[in-house]
Amino acid sequence: MGRYHLSTTHLWSEQQVTIDHHTFFHRQCQICDRDFVRALDEGEWRAVHVGGLRFDFLNEETTHRWVSEDCPGHPLPGEENHGRIRPGGLQASSKHRPGI
Ligand SMILES: [Zn+2]
Repeated sequence: MGRYHLSTTHLWSEQQVTIDHHTFFHRQCQICDRDFVRALDEGEWRAVHVGGLRFDFLNEETTHRWVSEDCPGHPLPGEENHGRIRPGGLQASSKHRPGI
């Protein structure tokens, strides 16, 4: 449980997004490009990557790290918000077939 507080060192642009009848607050830092989402009825921010019209929620470890850190001041390698491969993700799994 517990409520996450995002660092004030980020430079936020915030918007409200409704997906599947659920309303979220989406914050993106203009400096480090990290995205966070909080459901309207939840107190916790979660780390996400934005893919089209949906959010890919990142794992607990990433969420905890992002919400507890100050803004790194620039996008970090490996955190790019495109073509993201993550454990259990659906996005990146279908293009490659092993073998011939
Ligand atoms: Zn930032």
